[in-house]
Amino acid sequence: MRGKFKSVYIGIDDTDSRRGMCTTYLVKVLVEKLKDLGVDLIGPPRLVRLNPNIPWKTRGNGAVCIRVGKGYGEKKVVGEIEGEKIYAFRYGKDVNIDLNDIIPLLKNYFVLEDSTTNPGIVTSKRKLPEWLYWKAVRDVVDIALVERLLEENDAKFFKFKNGRGIIGASAAIAWRAKKFTYELLTYLPENKWEEERYIDKNSVIDMDKKTKYTFDNYDYENNYIAISPHSKTPVLFGIRGLHPEELIRAKDMVKSTPYNAWFIFLTNQGTDEHLVKRKIKNVKPYQNVILRGKIVEEARRIEGGHTIFKIEDSTGKIDCAAYEPTKNFRNIIEKLRVGDEVEVYGSVRDEPRTINIEKIRIRRLAEVKVKVANPRCPKCGRRMESIGKGKGYRCRRCGIKLPEEAAEFKILEREIKEGWYEVPVIARRHLSMPLKIKGMKSFKMF
Ligand SMILES: [Zn+2]
Repeated sequence: MRGKFKSVYIGIDDTDSRRGMCTTYLVKVLVEKLKDLGVDLIGPPRLVRLNPNIPWKTRGNGAVCIRVGKGYGEKKVVGEIEGEKIYAFRYGKDVNIDLNDIIPLLKNYFVLEDSTTNPGIVTSKRKLPEWLYWKAVRDVVDIALVERLLEENDAKFFKFKNGRGIIGASAAIAWRAKKFTYELLTYLPENKWEEERYIDKNSVIDMDKKTKYTFDNYDYENNYIAISPHSKTPVLFGIRGLHPEELIRAKDMVKSTPYNAWFIFLTNQGTDEHLVKRKIKNVKPYQNVILRGKIVEEARRIEGGHTIFKIEDSTGKIDCAAYEPTKNFRNIIEKLRVGDEVEVYGSVRDEPRTINIEKIRIRRLAEVKVKVANPRCPKCGRRMESIGKGKGYRCRRCGIKLPEEAAEFKILEREIKEGWYEVPVIARRHLSMPLKIKGMKSFKMF
């Protein structure tokens, strides 16, 4: 390796399965081992979510990255393992570590028997180019491209099975954290992973109300605890927020099964960084887009309880969907009328081509007229008769004809307002920025 280095980045991805494990747990395993070797964390561990719209992703499509070295300068608590505090240092000096001692340790936790799990580990003395992160969070990245890039950067990589995880592992190292939030994750002891766990609902609600900078803790509409994973993973719960010290206090407000470790991750969750403004004709599969257009077909419920409507911009038309899991969000969508101007945020489904909405901004409500009566005859003043749907009116006595628009209309009073609407917490994606934190700034750890 060339040049002068202050530390080593280690990225890991695609080690978990839909049924269990969690790549973030490997940070705990790594940190514990590195501590014994006298190696410190430089900066907080990172949890980097990548394109949520890739069909072959693992559960949350989240990669992790840590920077390690000999720490100096300011230090902050970023975790605890069996009562012992774990610190991250602001600065790091170079340190010699033999990764051959560490890789086998991690391998024990890979869910290799799952066909969709293809772990990858990357170590690099320098940060990888930023474009790789943007491509991985917004698009699809080819593994051969990543391998070339790693070779050019004198980085090392370890592939398991098809090794696709090196893509996310590299992207995590490439993330610059220009926008960020935090997540504090608590971990169960290894002998408790398969057991039933318990989280007190009221304590979660209490924590949600007493903290200012946390988000997506509880779904009040659907009576759903959003801090705990669905499957039996090492994670007991995770609290997301903008303020690391508040997160440490927040975890103590949650009453639950005992856990023996926790870590704070710096993350790109809640940043909307997967979304790109596009024109309808340029929309491609696997993308996540922001489209601005007018409603041309009002929402209809289809089988399965999904709600579909159509928008149009200067380049084309596209279907947008609020799927059944978005619950009451569908009621908002169903109040949209032809002519309403909206901005739709969501992911592109290929077949049938549809935008799966995460949030919507109603920019301008159209003036919707509803007919209240047939027109009066301009000559005799009697109500005219309809000739047929869309064909206009005629006075039976005088024979005078008037067009359809001559009828008496009133302006419909709309049941929704202009502004932002989002899917409920229960249907929220990790990368989606909740409206609660829109315009708020995260606190810096250093
Ligand atoms: Zn008449």
